[in-house]
Amino acid sequence: MPLKVKIRHIEEKDLHLQGKLAALELELDDQDELARAPQPLHYDLTVRLVGKDILVAGHLEMALDCECARCLKPFGYRLDLPDWLLHLPAEGPDKPVLQDDALDLTPYLREAILLEFPQHPLCQSDCEGLPRRAEASSQKTEGSGRTPKASAWAELNKLKF
Ligand SMILES: [Zn+2]
Repeated sequence: MPLKVKIRHIEEKDLHLQGKLAALELELDDQDELARAPQPLHYDLTVRLVGKDILVAGHLEMALDCECARCLKPFGYRLDLPDWLLHLPAEGPDKPVLQDDALDLTPYLREAILLEFPQHPLCQSDCEGLPRRAEASSQKTEGSGRTPKASAWAELNKLKF
């Protein structure tokens, strides 16, 4: 079941939505080889009318099965959006399409989740990957063996938008 909201319901009062949405509904399958979503999306949202605009705010959470882009090790990744906010203006190009007075939130949830999907999942930010050839590993022992801080942060930035 897609996640739909009746406009006349939010005209009366704010609507609180809490539950799970199957990953299948979000059509996330096979988006990415390194990150998969076998578990449902958990949502805890408040939908309200502000003037004629629709405002959706709340928490989105989803557990992903990832594979490290460097060492190929499988690991669990928690996609967490504690302060997700969606503003749908009553007029203009971003005006939502209503069907039978109902707004389908599913495509917006899909977009939010896809934006947060790890593009370069790493089991840990300083994962050194699979053992390299002998020359590469001898080079590594010369240095401290650790990734300099700056590049570690660069890796983190790749994970988060
Ligand atoms: Zn790794």
